[in-house]
Amino acid sequence: MMAKKTEDKIVYVDSKGKRLDGRKVEELRPIKIRAGVIPSADGSAYLEWGQNKVFAAVHGPRPCLPKHTASPYKAVIKFDYKMATFSVPDRKNPRPSRREIEISKVCGEALEKAIFVERFPNTEIVVIVAVIDSDAGSRIASLTAASVAMADAGIPMRDMVAGTGIGRAGGKMIVDLNKAEEDAPDAVDIPLAILPNSKEIVLLQMDGIMTKKEWEDVYPLGEKAIMQVYELQKNALKAKYAKNGVEEK
Ligand code: UDP
Repeated sequence: MMAKKTEDKIVYVDSKGKRLDGRKVEELRPIKIRAGVIPSADGSAYLEWGQNKVFAAVHGPRPCLPKHTASPYKAVIKFDYKMATFSVPDRKNPRPSRREIEISKVCGEALEKAIFVERFPNTEIVVIVAVIDSDAGSRIASLTAASVAMADAGIPMRDMVAGTGIGRAGGKMIVDLNKAEEDAPDAVDIPLAILPNSKEIVLLQMDGIMTKKEWEDVYPLGEKAIMQVYELQKNALKAKYAKNGVEEK
């Protein structure tokens, strides 16, 4: 376990179990999801997760271009995670960053696990995610929105992909870290995404080190929270199709 810095005076979880923003340790930030918000895309979603705001658009399956990127065995998932210049406190350089390339790769690989890609050889499925505001957890917000957009596009899926961040701040194990918590001196931040029905882990990254006991304590909290995210994803899709058009709030 990483040593907790003695100069750390911020109390990340108080004696009543409340966090800096008033949440309980296992509580998600407020999440809103709408399916079918971009008419020009085959499938789309808009998601707000705390301060994070993301749009996801799906195009395909369509002939894979350039052709050398195609596979004769499956559809190729091309996931593009992009942050708007105004989505972070310091202006984001519009040039693709190493971080955006990494997030695009891990999210694309996670999403592929949920799709019957083998049914669509020589095609591509393009997923474009635009982050317009962020406050930590944006890759999981993007993947959650992209999964709804994929289902909205009618692409055959074996499951959804849903996730949350889990980790530690101020010595306490917590779910869905915001930026202030991610910046704690002893922070461990674990973006986690699973297939909610099989519980297969499809994305797990780890920034920091924690003990086995801490992991065993926090993982079940994360899995429970992810099932709530999954319900919200399904509700967003049902709301669109119940009204036979874009849901109006
Ligand atoms: N962030 C930032 N500038 C950047 C990249 C990220 O301010 O160039 C912020 C942004 O709010 C993001 C947070 O740092 O949500 C955490 O970033 P991280 O790389 O951990 O990814 P995320 O938690 O968003 O998946």
